[in-house]
Amino acid sequence: MSKPTLERQQARLSALYEVSSQLGKSLDLDEVLNQVMDAIIQLTGAERGFLMLYDEDTGQLVTRAARNVDQKTIDGDAMNISRTVVERAVASGDGVLTSNAQEDARFSGQQSVVGYQLRSIMCAPLQARGFTLGAVYVDNRLMAGVFEMADLDLLMTFANQASVAIENARLFTQTDAALARRVEELSIFQRIDQQLNKSLELNRVLSLALNWAIALINADGGSIGLFERPEEAPPYLRLMVFRGADEVDEMRNVPVDHPIVQQVLAGSHSVLSHDVTESESIDGTPANVQLAVPIQQGGQISGLITLETQHAREINREDIAFVERLADRAAVAINNAQLYEQINAANQAKSEFVSLVAHELRVPMTSIKGYADLIISGVAGPLNDQQSQFLEVIRRNLQRMSTLISDLSDINRIESGRMVFDDKTFDIRETVADVTGSLHEQIEARGQTLTIDIAEEVPDVHADPTRIAQVLTNLVSNAHKYTPDNGRIIVRVTSDGHVAIVSVEDTGIGISEENQKKLFTQFFRAEDHAVRQQQGWGLGLSIVRNMVEAQGGQIEFESEVDKGSTFTFTVPLAKQE
Ligand code: ADP
Repeated sequence: MSKPTLERQQARLSALYEVSSQLGKSLDLDEVLNQVMDAIIQLTGAERGFLMLYDEDTGQLVTRAARNVDQKTIDGDAMNISRTVVERAVASGDGVLTSNAQEDARFSGQQSVVGYQLRSIMCAPLQARGFTLGAVYVDNRLMAGVFEMADLDLLMTFANQASVAIENARLFTQTDAALARRVEELSIFQRIDQQLNKSLELNRVLSLALNWAIALINADGGSIGLFERPEEAPPYLRLMVFRGADEVDEMRNVPVDHPIVQQVLAGSHSVLSHDVTESESIDGTPANVQLAVPIQQGGQISGLITLETQHAREINREDIAFVERLADRAAVAINNAQLYEQINAANQAKSEFVSLVAHELRVPMTSIKGYADLIISGVAGPLNDQQSQFLEVIRRNLQRMSTLISDLSDINRIESGRMVFDDKTFDIRETVADVTGSLHEQIEARGQTLTIDIAEEVPDVHADPTRIAQVLTNLVSNAHKYTPDNGRIIVRVTSDGHVAIVSVEDTGIGISEENQKKLFTQFFRAEDHAVRQQQGWGLGLSIVRNMVEAQGGQIEFESEVDKGSTFTFTVPLAKQE
């Protein structure tokens, strides 16, 4: 190698080293492409050049960076050969070098070759991970310098390094964009989930899901239908919600042998149909494009989201995937709403059953009680001691049954929202006197002391006096039941200016911490022998809490095993004049 050539070679290598070391510092694709283009001009000493990459969507080569040449020139006839050179480089995967295109057998057939006789051209493909990304192209007027094989080698070496940097930046940009899309999608779905899960009403859930589906893919209208599978009739799709240019008065039922419905059911996947006429359309709306997406619950297709566009706009794969993901979420919300509907229906049925049974029991019980009372009073003749004793047992058990029936009826009314409360202003001290008065005898019978401690100034309260008396009766009666003989019961009444505070304290068996958590649950009774000895159904406290809270009060308690319990509830004071 002659000395000047060697020097040139050294200069080339050091230039290569310098420009290569700059690569890879950025992950911004445009920045990397511009760096590469500058480096190539610097390395080759070319007059002009450009860099092309394959466009991912169209698969076409697109100019992404250029120096001293504009897009119009690149696209123009004058550069036909340049494009041929680029195509040759990307197709063969080899570099292309020509110093006289006119004499070069590869290009002499081209019309524009005339203009090229004065140019020296170099082109290297950009390849990374076994794929061709595009190519870099440079040229020079002959008088500005002829490229040699060594220049092409240098360009090829650099192109290899540049390809890696370009591919990295491209992947990074892609993942970045994909991530941004995913984050946006997640935040949309988070909003959808929030809205869907807020409602347990089926029609509202369906309506929300349809609105979102239409908005997500910018459709013109649509509908959601749920499959009905009656026992005696063939299954059909029942349209539940609809949005369209003309709102329909009556939702239609679609037989499952409807061609589009059938296609969805057969493949368990979305079906896209074009130029759908009114009769072909699932919801009767003619459409340019109609998308039917299945709603799947527990491995079964339970419904269809149908969307229509009336304009030329196509529904693409991403749109479909979006609606499919929405359908999955809607399925969960629909399921919840359906379960809720079923529970409501079951509750309604239970409530009606309890009302009926309570009524049917009350009638004969009244008659049994009436006759028992008559016999006890002696109208039917004198009774011996044993007969009187037996009748007493009958009366006590009737009382038990009647308490149970009235508790069950109360719970039924509370749960179905049919409990009515009277609005009255009254003196709660009178209620305390009445309730304690009626329980006094049975309390004394067990040697328990009952103390009443009422603060001097307790204003009138505003509530239903009968229900407040019922609450207090329950609490005092519990204190009496769950306090051993000779224990103490204290009823206190104070007020804080907003509410009257009534408490019932006893020195009874107390309630363990574990049982305290279940105290207001229906049918809960502690396992203690002392509790089971007493009559009860475990309904009292649940009713008490509901009644207190329904009237604007609160109830709480404190208790310690073997020491006693204090239940405290509040009743709103009547507004002062
Ligand atoms: P019942 O008295 O019919 O069992 P309640 O709903 O009134 O039903 O009370 C539920 C349970 O709470 C009782 O069975 C008992 O175990 C416990 N309990 C209620 N009040 C007291 C009390 N004052 N002292 C101790 N335990 C009580």
